[in-house]
Amino acid sequence: MTDPIMNVPIARTSLTEAEINSVLGPLESGWLVQGPKVREFEEKWSRFTGADHSLAVTSCTTGLHLAAVALGLKPGDEVIVPAFTWIATANIVEHQQAKVVFCDIDLETFNIDPVAFEAAITERTRGVVPVHLFGLAANMDEISAIARSHGLWVIEDAACGFGAKYKGSHVGTLGDAGVFSFHPRKAITTGEGGMVTTNDADLAETVRRLRDHGAVISDLQRHHGPRPYLLADHTLAGFNQRMTDIQAALGSAQMDRADAIIQERRRLAARYDQALSDIEWLRPPASPDGFEHGYQSYACLFMPEQVAKGEIAFVNERRNNWMDFLQQNGVSTRPATHAVHMLSFYAEKYALAKDAFPRARAANDCSVSLPLFHGMTEAEQEHVIALVRQPPA
Ligand SMILES: *Cc1c(COP(=O)(O)O)cnc(C)c1O
Repeated sequence: MTDPIMNVPIARTSLTEAEINSVLGPLESGWLVQGPKVREFEEKWSRFTGADHSLAVTSCTTGLHLAAVALGLKPGDEVIVPAFTWIATANIVEHQQAKVVFCDIDLETFNIDPVAFEAAITERTRGVVPVHLFGLAANMDEISAIARSHGLWVIEDAACGFGAKYKGSHVGTLGDAGVFSFHPRKAITTGEGGMVTTNDADLAETVRRLRDHGAVISDLQRHHGPRPYLLADHTLAGFNQRMTDIQAALGSAQMDRADAIIQERRRLAARYDQALSDIEWLRPPASPDGFEHGYQSYACLFMPEQVAKGEIAFVNERRNNWMDFLQQNGVSTRPATHAVHMLSFYAEKYALAKDAFPRARAANDCSVSLPLFHGMTEAEQEHVIALVRQPPA
């Protein structure tokens, strides 16, 4: 039944010839860093998401950091972060010598639990970083209402959020700022890269300066201004987090098929949903009413009934064996992401036990993402489905 030649990776980059060729433009023009292509990519991003301001940066991680700096995060402040996310969401708080305060997730959606978020607020809390994990928006009305009533800022970690909508609004437009990733595991890629979005003009201006050494005007503005030979003033001790025009050309070219990229991921996810909904050993991703899933990945919960009974160690062992079986038969899977409080740095620094956040731990130990990527063939997907439908040993 299994074709020994077929190897289905967890993800594969898909670029058209026109997209690949787009990088030659900046190389030929000689404008390599934060020039006309970055501006074009930002304009397309704003149009697509509905954000008033889009600012390209070197990664989602650096964008999250710049947004936190722009919002005034200081040493000793506390920021609430869901315990199940990519480590970068927490690291950017540490980068400011501030304190990460984890809260648990909702195991149905893998996203931040608003009740746990509210319970984690103290006098020192300054902000919260809800994550739209795997392309499903966090419960933003509840998060925003709690944040507003406690005077907290909200930075959306929209790394996986391309194409994800909440009640009709694209993610990245719902908090004080949102930040997207263009790492190759994400739906649009520039190799490394990120985009900060905000509807706050002052915040946008601060991020714009912070990413460019604190300069009041960019090189592009200076070159189009009346005296291009004079240098800009610098009002901040900023960073260098500028995106190159080579990367922006690639990102901008992909934006011309943004809808097709999202539709293709939704089509693949719908095929999985249909083919796998009746098996009891795998729970497909939730997609509640009012949420439009972007399917950055197809994150499932393994043996959900046993997980609900708390048999986490048992399910974890079975899941790992199952992942071995799939890998041996040419299907790559991954745990959906990690529980950050279980990683050595955070576990040791904050003396956190695994079960400090039991639902994040369950997600860490019992989740599994199936291959889903643009350009996945029908044969590849049917191969995955056939294997996944075999009852696990
Ligand atoms: C990918 C990812 C990041 C990091 O993005 P980079 O662009 O690689 O810095 C942060 N948070 C989440 C949830 C991610 O999935």
